Amino acid sequence: MESHPLEKNIYLTFDDGPNEPYTSQVLDILSAKGAKATFFVCGKNIEQNPESIKKIVEAGHAIGAHSYSHNPWKVIAGNLFDETEYTRELIKKYTGVDTRIYRSPWGITMPWLNRKLKQNGYSVFHWNIMSFDWWQPSAEYIADHTLKRIFSDAIILLHDGDQTQNGSRNNTIKALPVILTELSAKNYKFKLLEAGQNCPTGSFTNIFIDILIGGVRFLKYWIVS
Ligand SMILES: [Zn+2]
Repeated sequence: MESHPLEKNIYLTFDDGPNEPYTSQVLDILSAKGAKATFFVCGKNIEQNPESIKKIVEAGHAIGAHSYSHNPWKVIAGNLFDETEYTRELIKKYTGVDTRIYRSPWGITMPWLNRKLKQNGYSVFHWNIMSFDWWQPSAEYIADHTLKRIFSDAIILLHDGDQTQNGSRNNTIKALPVILTELSAKNYKFKLLEAGQNCPTGSFTNIFIDILIGGVRFLKYWIVS
């Protein structure tokens, strides 16, 4: 993530898709605003929405693996390598893209899984601004919380899916145009995550800080509303 000192970059990411109609709605909004994003998809969702994954790639966005099952027990056991490889194969089958970028469910990665992924050429990306959209707060909260914390080279975490459960992402869809308009007004350039990219902002320490700041703010929101 080396950038010109005067250039401001942002990495939009969407997890847990593809999940219709939300993935297509996200794609329409991104297209209307001229923005690009990276989608971390679950293999199980690809099997249910193969057309959506093609649309993501055709629109010029990046794709990464986000496990097959989003299964918490496998996450805790660090036992996700085989299903990540299977998800990579599914992505390749439907899009031709042979991805080597990965994000673990809930950002939880065990050292042995991390090691194996890296040995096999994967780059593991976390995030540093969680929108909290997975908890389905209001669209105003999602946009406001995200924009308040923006800085150059930040990786923003949003969701077009809900693990593998086909949940609603209506509030993310409502918040997204607000977020994109503001980022464009502030001259942020929308960048894609790539394998091999140096990612100092996506470390586990950063996730911890993000969850701490975001969690306290979210708790305040939850109590007041
Ligand atoms: Zn996820």
